Amino acid sequence: QIRVRFAPSPTGPFHIGGARSALFNWLLARKYKDGKLILRVEDTDRARSTKESEENIKEALKWLGLTWDEGIDVGGEYGPYRQTERLHLYQEFTDKLIAEDKAYYCYCTETEIEAEREALRAENKMPIYQGHCRNLTAEQRAQYEAEGRKPVVRFRTPENQQVMFKDLVRGQMCFESNGIGDFVIVKADGMPVYNYAVVLDDALMKISHVIRAEEHLSNTPRQVVLFEALNLPVPIFGHISLILGKDHSKMSKRHGATSVDQYRKLGYLPEALVNFLALLGWAPQDEKEIFSAEELIEAFSMDRVAKNPAVFDIDKLNWINAHYIKQAKPEKITMLAIPHLVEKGYIKGPLTDVEMAKLVSFVAVIQDHLSFAAQVVNFADIFFKDDVLIESDEARETLLDETTPAVINLFKDKLKALEVVDAKAIKPIFKVITKELKVGGQKVYMPLRVALTGQMHGPDLVGLVEVLGRDKVIKRIEETMM
Ligand code: GLU
Repeated sequence: QIRVRFAPSPTGPFHIGGARSALFNWLLARKYKDGKLILRVEDTDRARSTKESEENIKEALKWLGLTWDEGIDVGGEYGPYRQTERLHLYQEFTDKLIAEDKAYYCYCTETEIEAEREALRAENKMPIYQGHCRNLTAEQRAQYEAEGRKPVVRFRTPENQQVMFKDLVRGQMCFESNGIGDFVIVKADGMPVYNYAVVLDDALMKISHVIRAEEHLSNTPRQVVLFEALNLPVPIFGHISLILGKDHSKMSKRHGATSVDQYRKLGYLPEALVNFLALLGWAPQDEKEIFSAEELIEAFSMDRVAKNPAVFDIDKLNWINAHYIKQAKPEKITMLAIPHLVEKGYIKGPLTDVEMAKLVSFVAVIQDHLSFAAQVVNFADIFFKDDVLIESDEARETLLDETTPAVINLFKDKLKALEVVDAKAIKPIFKVITKELKVGGQKVYMPLRVALTGQMHGPDLVGLVEVLGRDKVIKRIEETMM
């Protein structure tokens, strides 16, 4: 049975990288019959963990459609699923490790440890613990206790061993245990460190595959020696590559939005983000780029996950999102755009039903031009502002064309003559004008577009005329031509 987990630390915004790890795990869980995804919260860093961040991660996962089968909120056989609620479990294992002499109390202070590391570095040696407290006698311990020192628990890492594990992305991995040294598993305040809690949780929750970010690769040997010391089965690992910005440096704020929330607020669609994230490090067998979640589940496999870093290409995300936006209902895109229209001052109070309906029709006209919903504001002047701002000299010149006055006048006449002003009735007008005035299509569309919007390119003119309505169109054209 495939049992995978997503184990975020709720210490800040939910990043794209985290979402990608969650997605890969979800895809694996859904691909296999009986596959299970467990959502575990790693909140042992009490100072930095917040409820708010946990909520945020949960909301983002739900929004992306990444459902979990066991974990916080939904429960399950192996709970609790929040590490701070599992301290009693860790304690049991710590007692056992100490009783078996596989771990020991260490009374060295931070300052002493730091001094030791400094000295080692100065000699060009690896800054690993030299074992001062490895074999303390009962008296020595009592002495330290009497001094008021609070011990940490250190794991006694076996010496001169090769630590091996299987990684689905990187193949067979091998590390020297001597490079690890005895490391802390429980801090002086009783909190387990990540490397320790993660091992116990993965084992107790019967995790079969640990799929996570590459930055944890160097932690894995520590985890493997712990699994072995505890006689717990070692899961199969898969460390997925880093995400780099387009300039190939590590993805950061400099490269634009890095949290799922930011993309959500800008009006990216969850199905687009899922599609895009899947392609960050995984490649399908063919050239296909647009995948529904079902198609991803079908096509996904860990052996097509690449070792080399994935590059976050915002243009590609925009392209994929534009694809999904085209297919979405205009009502939906409108709702996503409204907060941005409010922010830019286009919308001041609540909209009436009529205003709302008009706005939706407008969004329908510009929808094919959007990469994400917030871009509606780029077109908002056309809809909300009556004074037309001519964008360039080139645009102005189209209005000065010899044929333009006749085109404009004929257009106005034809528009006025319509009984019903809808797309079906508006569409033929342009053709008729080219015929009657014997001018090319460009000489008709361009000046009309510029007179109406100030721009030489933009949304479909027929749709625009329909949405703005006859009176507004005529008034606007007249004012621009004055
Ligand atoms: N809590 C760790 C993190 O958020 C999880 C690492 C792991 O998946 O083992 O980075």
